[in-house]
Amino acid sequence: MSAADNLSFVRAEIAKAARAAGREPSSVTLVAVSKTFEAADIRPVIAAGQRVFGENRVQEAKGKWPALKAECPGIELHLIGPLQTNKVKDALDLFDVIHSLDRPALAAELAKGFAKLEGRPPPRLLIQVNTGAEPQKAGVLPEEADAFVAQCREGHGLAIEGLMCIPPFDENPAPHFALLAKIAARNGLDRLSMGMSADFATAIAFGATYVRVGSAIFGHRA
Ligand SMILES: *Cc1c(COP(=O)(O)O)cnc(C)c1O
Repeated sequence: MSAADNLSFVRAEIAKAARAAGREPSSVTLVAVSKTFEAADIRPVIAAGQRVFGENRVQEAKGKWPALKAECPGIELHLIGPLQTNKVKDALDLFDVIHSLDRPALAAELAKGFAKLEGRPPPRLLIQVNTGAEPQKAGVLPEEADAFVAQCREGHGLAIEGLMCIPPFDENPAPHFALLAKIAARNGLDRLSMGMSADFATAIAFGATYVRVGSAIFGHRA
């Protein structure tokens, strides 16, 4: 199967999962995760109509996306991996959505960067929540999430669009998706970034509005 075939299959599965949950398929945005893949692998997926892509490293994205964006206007690029404060300027030049706002220092740096955009629209922001409280994983702890949302909004003047999580890979993801949805609801947030190749249908049942799907489209990563 080609990546374009895989894309059609994933799109159909997203629509099926949405309908099964009583939702409009258009309420779920597919973020095609192209990390580790080269422009030559990405072009056929763009040609098949996909416009929303995700990358987890600023440096890697900087190497391939400016050219791809120039070839195809209308690309929307999402940062789904951790963001170092010294890469904020590059991130603001490249990304339309950042899913990985996860600490006060980054909120402060983003607010500073937004002030220098000179009319360009700032990226939309999602706060990453470490729903499994895993020490090696980025994200605010669930019990810190409400305070961090408030700090971003009131302390830094940042508009927050939603929340993102990556459940522990060896656990049933459903309780993690449910927890993220609950934290979002009580903070008045309606965008949820959750679900990857193995579990996007479950995530959609729990309200995902962005699913981040890599290997099911592009194949296994080296
Ligand atoms: C790599 C990655 C994905 C995509 O994972 P697949 O299992 O290949 O679909 C999703 N989200 C994040 C944060 C990632 O780093």
